[in-house]
Amino acid sequence: MHADDPAYEQLLESKFSIIRAQEILPEELIALVERVLPLLRQARADAKVELPAHTDCATPEAMFAGSPLLMRQSFPFDLKQALGLVPALLDLLAASGGEAANAAKALREAMASGELDPEKALRGLAAGDDTLFSAWRTRLPGSPRALDFLATTAISPSLNAAAEQLTARLPENLPHEHGHCPLCGSLPFISLLRDKEGARFGVCSFCGFEHRVRRIACAYCDEDDQGKLKLFRVAEYPGVRVDVCETCNMYIKTLDYRELDQKLLPALDDMATVALDVLAQQQGYKRPTLSAWGF
Ligand SMILES: [Zn+2]
Ligand SMILES: [Zn+2]
Repeated sequence: MHADDPAYEQLLESKFSIIRAQEILPEELIALVERVLPLLRQARADAKVELPAHTDCATPEAMFAGSPLLMRQSFPFDLKQALGLVPALLDLLAASGGEAANAAKALREAMASGELDPEKALRGLAAGDDTLFSAWRTRLPGSPRALDFLATTAISPSLNAAAEQLTARLPENLPHEHGHCPLCGSLPFISLLRDKEGARFGVCSFCGFEHRVRRIACAYCDEDDQGKLKLFRVAEYPGVRVDVCETCNMYIKTLDYRELDQKLLPALDDMATVALDVLAQQQGYKRPTLSAWGF
């Protein structure tokens, strides 16, 4: 589907109306994602990534033993594109008004004065180094995830492009007894059931790759004792379940795309089912990953 495809536009419209109908996420945030989406789609098409040498990737033997193809800090992304997206993303953040606009102003000033180096932020995010981000969360209490959002959305188009190209390097018949991404080693933010057999896939919280995971196992700690795994559903959300694990106390939402008559857009479906996150967290379960938007 292309951005100018009326079916795609219609799908987006319906997803956003479901997201708004829940009245949980603030309208500024929903509108921000709505405005960012076309920018990211274009960037995804334009991204240029240089793949690492085969010798810098894990060997098939290491991969069969559970290693990801690349460590997250050496995962390729289009730095030039990501840096180029920062001003436009700051504009969209500023256009959201309120606390988001204040955060955009503070980030822009810090970049202009040299206090905040956007390249350092992007590299920090890619390396999984939270130092800079946690400092800015404290500095921007009204919009604590502003820098996370900025960096995550700026690198995501080229990470997705790199992931797509790197799948060709995955050995065939790779086992999937771990929940982490076989390309970059990161955890999934949501899981999906697809195909006639209901094969389960995790959607990587870093590179976006949809990888097979075990149907009945915790995607986070690999627990597969059925006595430790529970799931719950809510009537208002057909086709969605929450898988909880009593061993690590984490939960993950699972979207059954065989029951949903909607096309797959996990980053938006995650937002459209945020009521289930609220329920799971009220019961004391934790989610170890952020949304695809960095908040
Ligand atoms: Zn990944
Ligand atoms: Zn677990």
